Amino acid sequence: MSDRIGFIGLGSMGKPMALNLAAAGYDLLVFDSNPNALQALVDAGATAAASVKDLADNADCVMVSLPTPAIVKTVALGEGGVAEGRRVKTFVDLSTTGPRMALDVAKGLAEHNIDQLDAPVSGGVGGAEKATIAVMVSGPEKRWEQYKDALDAIGNPFFIGEEAGQGQMMKLLNNYLSATAMVATAEAFVAGAKAGLDPDKMVEVIWAGSGMNTAVRDKFPKSVLPRSFDYGFRTELMYKDVKLCLEEAEAMGVPMWVGQPVKQWWSYALARGGNQEDFTHIVRYMEEGAGTEVRSRRNTPKK
Ligand code: NAD
Repeated sequence: MSDRIGFIGLGSMGKPMALNLAAAGYDLLVFDSNPNALQALVDAGATAAASVKDLADNADCVMVSLPTPAIVKTVALGEGGVAEGRRVKTFVDLSTTGPRMALDVAKGLAEHNIDQLDAPVSGGVGGAEKATIAVMVSGPEKRWEQYKDALDAIGNPFFIGEEAGQGQMMKLLNNYLSATAMVATAEAFVAGAKAGLDPDKMVEVIWAGSGMNTAVRDKFPKSVLPRSFDYGFRTELMYKDVKLCLEEAEAMGVPMWVGQPVKQWWSYALARGGNQEDFTHIVRYMEEGAGTEVRSRRNTPKK
């Protein structure tokens, strides 16, 4: 508990994860390039750092939750980055960056005697708030032992292996399944709506049946049927994850045939909605072609 933890990237996922660390009593230093993101953490007892370098000069372990692999690399190894920090000994990357980037960053940090744990997470913003997200950790076992309790405050940590990037590979495969389920579920519900089925009834039946997946369990009831399209994950991130997964699989000579049309759908949704849109909007682009709408007929408040 005496280690000081730095946390960079207080967005949709980073904010609740950092709040859970603060609630668990960790001595926490925080930074985000958007100054407005800092207040909630300062209110919870964390100290705001002036920059990435300032944070890495004053924390033993730096955790990051950043949007893209390129941003993670810059924050870790760029000018004024974590690698230049005087105190930091461990870098924990909670973002989804892919195994090759994880290897790259681990190598770069090793030159500065900093160990990396790649520790991507899954379970969405709701899971991050409730600390139920899966955390897929790979890297030196001694660092896993050292920070297991901190990761436990964030979610359910799993040690995947010592090799850098294995946690990332695990995460990409998980998200490949999640992205595929979302596309297939959207197709099924649009077809159901076109056929005149009640979408709430579809949810109930599939919950009891064999078509169950996280899109039917959470995403459709919370953000599609009430037409709020606000689940908390952007299309650009979903597209990134599927693209990274297919690239990794291709590099290993493993064809993922189903992944091609799935990637195509996310690419199309990204082209239509831009990089800030919530991923649940993909349903609207399918509805347009079909001339129908997946809308709740029940007048119940949003869960
Ligand atoms: P986000 O865009 O909401 O948050 C990213 C935060 O990083 C923002 O607050 C932004 O201001 C900050 N940031 C960007 N560049 C920075 C820089 N150079 N220095 C400091 N701060 C910077 O993204 P998110 O949805 O929280 O996702 C973060 C990571 O977690 C991504 O890799 C994503 O793929 C992954 N992830 C997201 C979800 C989800 O449901 N949103 C689920 C699992 C994994």
